[in-house]
Amino acid sequence: MMSLEEAQAAVVACARALPARPVALERALGLVLAEDVRAEEAVPRFDCSAMDGYALVASGEPPPLSLDVVGTLLAGDAPNRAVGPGEAVRIMTGAPIPEGADAVCMLEETQPSADGSTVVLLHSPARGEHVRPAGGDLQVGDIVARAGDRLGARHLGVLASVGIETVLARPRPRVGVLSTGSELRSAPEPLGPGQIRDSNRYLLLALVELAGAEPVDLGIVADDEEQLVAAIGDASERCDVLLTSGGVSVGDRDVVKAVIGRCCGESGRQVQVAIKPAKPLAFGVLASGTPLIGLPGNPVSSAVAFECFVRPALARMAGLDPSAAPRLAAVTGEAFRRKPDGKLHLVHVTLRSAPGGRLVVRRSGGASSHLLASTLGADALAYLPDGDGLDEGADLEVLPLTGAGASFGRAAAAVVRGDDDDCC
Ligand code: AMP
Ligand code: MG
Repeated sequence: MMSLEEAQAAVVACARALPARPVALERALGLVLAEDVRAEEAVPRFDCSAMDGYALVASGEPPPLSLDVVGTLLAGDAPNRAVGPGEAVRIMTGAPIPEGADAVCMLEETQPSADGSTVVLLHSPARGEHVRPAGGDLQVGDIVARAGDRLGARHLGVLASVGIETVLARPRPRVGVLSTGSELRSAPEPLGPGQIRDSNRYLLLALVELAGAEPVDLGIVADDEEQLVAAIGDASERCDVLLTSGGVSVGDRDVVKAVIGRCCGESGRQVQVAIKPAKPLAFGVLASGTPLIGLPGNPVSSAVAFECFVRPALARMAGLDPSAAPRLAAVTGEAFRRKPDGKLHLVHVTLRSAPGGRLVVRRSGGASSHLLASTLGADALAYLPDGDGLDEGADLEVLPLTGAGASFGRAAAAVVRGDDDDCC
């Protein structure tokens, strides 16, 4: 058996960062920058007022100060006259500070005359008071965002603030998702004897989308080697990476395992990883250069294999560090019993914050790899090392699950059935 880390490294080695291309800012959310971006405009671009008030020349004289009001400046106005000693300009937030002025007295500390021609200041502002200096946020030439940054909402706001319209970023990988299994049917098709619903395709397509990649639905292929090879060949041209589920184990009709060498040549591998669930795994690189990752068929195994192998590969393709997924320190809120079997167990758990900010972990449901509904309330995967398990209150690490926020902190899923089994 391969260790989790070895298998992750081998899968990630099949993936390459996608070539960067110019992307309009409004399409760039979640993409990874391929080059540093420098500010070509300062923010603020000019000295401007931080308050509604009066701009004046700070004199240091004690209040009250009586000044002549020589104009008004709103945001968007251009000053057309300088301000001298004994003068003030009524100014609104964001308006440029007129030449000569170097301080603003806020409206609340002033008493304008009835006709607005003079104003008495009840406070004598210091030089620079309530003035936002040009370049106070960003100066021309400052690096605003760096190659390798994943663009979030704040990045887009900052890039827009310096006039950037287009960035050089790596595109979202197109991720093909193919279910294998002659027993699989999707609603509304009726189920014949022995047939079951295809759940993995919906699960994996959604995980792909949540991971910031572009899901491509490749449907279901029966357990037939020729059909599978044809489907993989067709999809490899349209996708940057292919995911299959099912057919990687040791059964009689495990077709992905059977064709991995044929499709991927020497790079094709079928391995057993020392984890539970999600022990069997196939992967390689197709002739087109597209990586293929064959996930196990049991739905919980498919979901766990996605977190362990697909997410790091997608990170690599996006230009991110594939090993950067944060693990959080937590404590068990109940005993986690298991048997020694040489494997790391990855358990779907709920997270709750305890006083002091500690994260407390409980099982979200039964532990069998076919019990997908038992993972519904899960917020994270807990790492349960080989051995007899952990007592209540023991330290452990968890990997937060994307999109789990909706259930964060809620009680365990309603469905808690089944016991630990030996399923992959
Ligand atoms: P396999 O590795 O193909 O033998 O699949 C292991 C188990 O997972 C079997 O019980 C399959 O019926 C089930 N399975 C495989 N693919 C899917 C799928 N797409 N949706 C739901 N169950 C599946
Ligand atoms: Mg199968």
